[in-house]
Amino acid sequence: MERKNFIKKVSTFTIAATFMKGLSLNSFAQGLVPSKKMPVLFVGHGSPMNAIESNEFTKQWQTIGKKIPRPQAILCVSAHWETAGTLVTAMSQPRTIHDFGGFPRELYEVQYPAQGNPQLANNTRSMVKQFMIDLDKEWGLDHGCWSILKQMYPQADVPVIQLSLDYKKDAEKHYQLAKELSALREKGVLIIASGNIVHNLGLVDWNNLNTPGFGFEWALEAKELINKKILSANHQDLINYNKLGRAVSLAVPSPEHYLPLLYALALQEKSDKVSFFNDKTLAGSLSMTSLIIEQG
Ligand code: ZN
Repeated sequence: MERKNFIKKVSTFTIAATFMKGLSLNSFAQGLVPSKKMPVLFVGHGSPMNAIESNEFTKQWQTIGKKIPRPQAILCVSAHWETAGTLVTAMSQPRTIHDFGGFPRELYEVQYPAQGNPQLANNTRSMVKQFMIDLDKEWGLDHGCWSILKQMYPQADVPVIQLSLDYKKDAEKHYQLAKELSALREKGVLIIASGNIVHNLGLVDWNNLNTPGFGFEWALEAKELINKKILSANHQDLINYNKLGRAVSLAVPSPEHYLPLLYALALQEKSDKVSFFNDKTLAGSLSMTSLIIEQG
């Protein structure tokens, strides 16, 4: 490279770097201003049909959407986005992903046209120091995210970014990564972790699909045990969930629907209180148990 071009490149780079530094100092992310500490949610999402049905669970989602402070943006960690390494969506207009099969046409016609927030994605990437997060331009919003948001914020007027679950990280690493997102709570960002604590699709009792409260003995046992640990803030036992015995092994046959719980718990601070909602089993082997973590 000629010296002249080299200098030109360097100076362009310097200007860009200075500009980026200014951005990070002056504006955290597009339109986001400091806020009171936002609550954190773990939501048991259940069937994708909850996006368009009205039932006792979706009514709670609507109530919570109205009750909590209005977020400036939402960061969603969904059980339905597993990747090698952690990614954060960074497109300005995420698409609505219909990542399921065999449901009525009207569910495939649902669109959730919330905007993204590329700068918030960038900020999220740079605030996590212990782990690499890469920007993603391909994903969008999967049903773990939009089925809940369709009920909570039907106007789709809050920007949404999604954070993936790295299937190469163990539970402890997921918990540690989530801890580093804590500052987002004071930037008006609502963090929603979406999964299901008891989630064994192989053992679903299809005859009791719509019987809220119906749970196999092991499912009820796992739910109670995990709820107790949540209430006593025994996060270490919850990170080591695979040592909690047979009932929990049956409840969590694979990690992806359970891990979002750890993201929510990692953001719990000493002064926060935790309350349950939709705390019911369903179809024998699922639970809709959800929690809100908020300043006491
Ligand atoms: Zn799911």
